[in-house]
Amino acid sequence: MNILILGGGGREHALAWAVLQNPKCDKLIVAPGNAGIANIAECADLDILNGGAVTEFVQDNAIDFVIIGPEAPLAAGVADRLREAGVLVFGPSQAAAQLEASKGFTKAVCDAAGAPTAAYARFDDAEAAKDYIRQQGAPIVVKADGLAAGKGVIVAMTEAEALAAIDDMFGGEFGAAGAEVVIEEFMEGEEASYFILCDGEDALPIGTAQDHKRVGEGDEGPNTGGMGAYSPAPVLTDAIAERAMEEIIRPTLAEMAKRGTPYQGVLYAGFMIKDGQARLVEYNCRFGDPECQVLMMRLGGQALDLMQAAAEGRLPEAKVNWADDHAMTVVMAAKGYPGAYKKGTEIKGLEALPETASQYCFHAGTRSDGGRVLANGGRVLNLTARGATLAEARDRAYAMADALDWPDGFLRRDIGWRILD
Ligand code: ATP
Repeated sequence: MNILILGGGGREHALAWAVLQNPKCDKLIVAPGNAGIANIAECADLDILNGGAVTEFVQDNAIDFVIIGPEAPLAAGVADRLREAGVLVFGPSQAAAQLEASKGFTKAVCDAAGAPTAAYARFDDAEAAKDYIRQQGAPIVVKADGLAAGKGVIVAMTEAEALAAIDDMFGGEFGAAGAEVVIEEFMEGEEASYFILCDGEDALPIGTAQDHKRVGEGDEGPNTGGMGAYSPAPVLTDAIAERAMEEIIRPTLAEMAKRGTPYQGVLYAGFMIKDGQARLVEYNCRFGDPECQVLMMRLGGQALDLMQAAAEGRLPEAKVNWADDHAMTVVMAAKGYPGAYKKGTEIKGLEALPETASQYCFHAGTRSDGGRVLANGGRVLNLTARGATLAEARDRAYAMADALDWPDGFLRRDIGWRILD
């Protein structure tokens, strides 16, 4: 089978790494890829937001299966264009990807599905939104409706903060994404993520994870795309997960099918967990980055069979073969991230890192320059390891980080603190 993966981050490096372990994979191309991906697969320069260009590339290169990594091509309808051309593709249609692209849409689906989530109201007018905030009081959560790269959510602990967020959003800070806002009840609890493969009708959970969004140790400082993650997440127990499947996930999928927009791909549900119950915080319509790295390390080559079964509508036949293991990924970022940072600094020591089924360095933002590997983004490397215990996985991941020579990089030393000493 010839496979094309769209994307060029740590998530796509992990997807490529897993796909290549499956003997079914004859040829793998990743577009655009990165320096790490180029070590294991062919990389292609392709405008991945252009459905027509992607379809043409697929036809020219005899690709049998396309796996879409990031949300932007999904929101741009690339999966639709491919399916119209008869190409097998893993990833939701543009209409189904609204579950991530519009928070108001997700709330409406949850209402119709009776799925537990925060109480909310939607506004396209600043004064009405402010009146509602004054009525409800703080803490309260203000969200720009559209995609804002994780920055369009203000968890306001005071009324003044919430009112200021309304001014920012309607003042155009988030462009079109902020033309409408969703104001939500503040939910208390512990957050965890649940990943479910969907084939339009059926669903198959493939793992739980928790990440660390804040840049600093002790979960201090500004938010980032994620500084580390681990799987499984013990807070999302089997009992809570099963209840969430019945109360949240299956009703959501049934509602999507009823609307004529069945969901196919991976559904990434962010939950708030309290008193033995999960409530939905958000849906994403793709794998999390860096959560994908730990899931792929745990799944290995079977990930390809599972994604193919989802794409072909055969999930009822599919089964996950779980090892009783743990995985952790530690993100190395360029100093300054998530603020301004330098690009182009050299990372040494990568070639000496172990590359096994239990230890691997996924590249998130790198490029090669002759024989050298240079940092080419904020989050740059994902040191990922597996172990019989989470402590063992952690020690292996940090041992890789410690073996690197990159004075311009930094990492958090406390990934997994919630469950490790
Ligand atoms: P990201 O892309 O970073 O996941 P997003 O823009 O899609 O974020 P959400 O996931 O909806 O936005 O919210 C971001 C974070 O804000 C959540 O992970 C959670 O910590 C917090 N949050 C969101 N909604 C609530 C809520 N109702 N109560 C408490 N915290 C919330």
